[in-house]
Amino acid sequence: MTKYKLEYIWLDGYTPVPNLRGKTQVKEFAEFPTLEQLPLWGFDGSSTMQAEGRSSDCVLKPVAVYPDPARTNGVLVMCEVMMPDGVTPHASNSRATILDDEDAWFGFEQEYFFYKDGRPLGFPEHGFPAPQGPYYTGVGYAAVGDIARKIVEEHLDLCLAAGINHEGINAEVAKGQWEFQIFGKGSKKAADQIWMARYLLQRLTEKYGIDIEYHCKPLGDTDWNGSGMHCNFSTAYMREVGGKEYFEALMAAFEKNLLDHIAVYGPDNDKRLTGKHETAPWNKFSYGVADRGASIRVPHSFIKNDYKGYLEDRRPNSQGDPYQIASQVLKTIAEVPLAGEKKAAA
Ligand code: ADP
Ligand code: MN
Ligand code: MN
Ligand code: MN
Repeated sequence: MTKYKLEYIWLDGYTPVPNLRGKTQVKEFAEFPTLEQLPLWGFDGSSTMQAEGRSSDCVLKPVAVYPDPARTNGVLVMCEVMMPDGVTPHASNSRATILDDEDAWFGFEQEYFFYKDGRPLGFPEHGFPAPQGPYYTGVGYAAVGDIARKIVEEHLDLCLAAGINHEGINAEVAKGQWEFQIFGKGSKKAADQIWMARYLLQRLTEKYGIDIEYHCKPLGDTDWNGSGMHCNFSTAYMREVGGKEYFEALMAAFEKNLLDHIAVYGPDNDKRLTGKHETAPWNKFSYGVADRGASIRVPHSFIKNDYKGYLEDRRPNSQGDPYQIASQVLKTIAEVPLAGEKKAAA
C-alpha cells in the first residue's frame, strides 16, 4: 500500500467569479486511485460563501482525477460541491447541470496577466512601459522580462504531466500578459481541465510572489488589451456534414441568443468587448472570415472545407466559467435543426 496525497479541489460560492479552493487528505491505496475509489469528503461552507442555514457542512464529490506532478504520490481531485445529502448539487455547483456531448470538442484560449506588487509583471512602479506592439509572441528580455517564460514553461510541463490536454502557449499583446490553450472532447472534460490548469498556474506562481489576474480588463479604459478566453467549438455534425445553410442557421441562432451568451461569458465584458483591441462590441453579434474584430471568427479552413470544421467565439472572457460557456454554446447549437431533422419535420 502507498500513502497518496489527495488534493480535493473545488469552486467556492463567491460571485460573480468563484475562487478555487483545495485541501489535502492522505489515504492508502494499492495503486494510483481511480475516480470510483475516491470517497466523498466535506468542508466548512461557512468559510467559502457556501453555508446553507445552520448546517455549514458541504460535501465534495470527486468528478475528475489527475496525477499531481508537483508532489510525491500526489493526486489532483476535481470536485463538485453537493448539499449535505451528498446527491443534491449546491447552488454554486455550475457543473452539475450543464449540457455535455463527448462529440462536441472545445478549445479554450485562456489569457491572463501576471501581477506583481499590484501591477502587471514588467510594469514600472509609476506610469507605463513602452506601448503594445513588440510583446505579442515576443522574445527577449525587453519583451517578456526574465521570469514569465520560466513560469509558463513550468506550467506547461505540470499540465502535460497531469494528463491535461494543454495545446500551446504564447506571450500576449500587453506586457505581462500570456495565454495557454486547452482542448477537450466534451464540455465537462474541457472545462475541468481549464479549471485544473488555472489551479496549477496559481499554485505554481505562489513561490514567485506573483499572482494571476484573470479580470478581463485589469488596466481599464486604456490602450492595453483585455483578456479573453476564446471558445473554439465543433460538433460531430459541424465537422462531418456542415454546409452553408446550416452555418447560416447556426449564426442566426447565436445572434438571437446574444444576451444568454453574454450572461455567462464572464463579468465586466462590456469593458472589454468595446469594438477596440481585436474585439466586437458586446451588444452586436457579428461573424467574419478570419476577422478578429467579429464576435465569431470563421477560420479560412472552414470555408475552404465546405463550411465544415470549428468556429471561434471570441467573446468569452478570461474570468468566464468554462462549464457555463460550453453549455450555452451547446444549448444554442441544439436549437438549430440538422438536415435530416428538418426533412422529418417537413
Ligand atoms: P488563435 O490564437 O489563432 O485564435 P489558438 O491556436 O490560440 O488560435 O487556439 C485555437 C484553438 O482551437 C486551440 O485551442 C485548438 O485546440 C482549438 N481547435 C482546433 N480544432 C478544433 C476543433 N475541431 N474543435 C474545437 N476546437 C478546435
Ligand atoms: Mn490564441
Ligand atoms: Mn490570444
Ligand atoms: Mn483566438
